[in-house]
Amino acid sequence: MSLIVQKYGGSSVGSVERIQNVANRIKAKQEQGDQVVAVISAMGGVTDSLLDLANQISSQPSQRELDVLLATGEQQSIALLTMALHEIGIDAVSCTGRQAGVLTTGTHTAGKVHSINAESVLNNVKQGKVVIVAGFQGINEQGDIHTLGRGGSDLSAIAIAHAIGADKCEILTDVDGVYTCDPRVVPKAQKIQEISYDEMFEMASSGSKVMQARSVEFAKKHNVVFEVRSSLNQNSGTLVIEETPAMEAVVIRGVSIERAQARITITGLPDVPGTSAKVFTALSGAEVNVDMIVSNNTHEGLTRHSLTIPQSQYLQAKQALEPVLSAISDEAQLESEQGIGKLSVVGVGMKSHHGVAAQMFEALGQAGINIGMISTSEIKITITLAEEDLERGAQVVHTAFGLDA
Ligand code: ADP
Ligand code: ASP
Ligand code: MG
Repeated sequence: MSLIVQKYGGSSVGSVERIQNVANRIKAKQEQGDQVVAVISAMGGVTDSLLDLANQISSQPSQRELDVLLATGEQQSIALLTMALHEIGIDAVSCTGRQAGVLTTGTHTAGKVHSINAESVLNNVKQGKVVIVAGFQGINEQGDIHTLGRGGSDLSAIAIAHAIGADKCEILTDVDGVYTCDPRVVPKAQKIQEISYDEMFEMASSGSKVMQARSVEFAKKHNVVFEVRSSLNQNSGTLVIEETPAMEAVVIRGVSIERAQARITITGLPDVPGTSAKVFTALSGAEVNVDMIVSNNTHEGLTRHSLTIPQSQYLQAKQALEPVLSAISDEAQLESEQGIGKLSVVGVGMKSHHGVAAQMFEALGQAGINIGMISTSEIKITITLAEEDLERGAQVVHTAFGLDA
């Protein structure tokens, strides 16, 4: 008998029929003699609708109240799934994040899992019940509801699997596993059998939102092996595991894209200590998420920074920077470009193969796609490009690295 954590995402519980499908899958597991703790997301689209409602009421809703609101999505789906299980004769009980002992730290709408007191979940399991836990939520030290960031049910599932010492953790979704690129973008993408935590993290944080990046970080830290697979069929999925030596043989594991980005370039900054700190402190004070940063100095003793941010934060960033730049120097100027995208290639094989950047840029050049900014890390190369070139760029690079099915 195995203890299994299964996470069902929003698309897997998006309708009454899908909820009944999930109930039947859980029943089948239980009948095989396994014990199931299922972590459930809100029905697809519900979290977005709740956010939309909040934005209609207030342009700057209280983050505490947003958490109270957003957490209701998962409460609906756990109750409905538990009822569906009762209908087919399964003894099941639902738990909110608080009831499941999920304790959080950090800020509202971006809580982190601090610890999990799994006693109550385990007591229910001991009594033979299926436990249906609300993903995406926990409570902080003050007893306030925290949500765990978009896609945060993945984190709930992995943290609960760790806390209860589950034999297996499955992330069930609407695709058969992790693909070499989002199959909606590159139809020739292939399912990956095994991927390392680091590769999965880099793909997730550069736009492959099949997993929440922070959940992968947690899994790596606590060595939680998990499988991403479909809730709609029985095909085997993708195992996310510690890196093995054999993994380096593959140069590029996958390609990710991110839409709706903006670039800000600041020129004419004096090349003296403290200038960059002023610029980036202003951005962080305005809670702008800066991703790529490319900087250099000119012969005239000036510095320039180019950075990417989500397009939705462009005005916020501009308003935060303008007064700081005028205070620094009359020559400091801000240029921007909206409607850009980011394209990344990821693979641990990059550590031992050279010429990967050249191969990527060559393929894009041949396709007439212009490259904006470039940044690299040990296992990732990211470029910016016009958003309209993004999908074609992903397809071209996917083919160039021999990833097409
Ligand atoms: P869930 O509701 O189950 O959490 P998500 O929508 O968060 O599901 O994630 C599944 C989706 O992620 C897929 O439908 C797919 O379009 C998208 N996706 C993006 N990149 C990838 C990738 N590399 N492999 C598989 N799916 C991907
Ligand atoms: N319902 C939340 C969201 O849409 C959490 C999740 O689905 O994982 O982001
Ligand atoms: Mg998700």
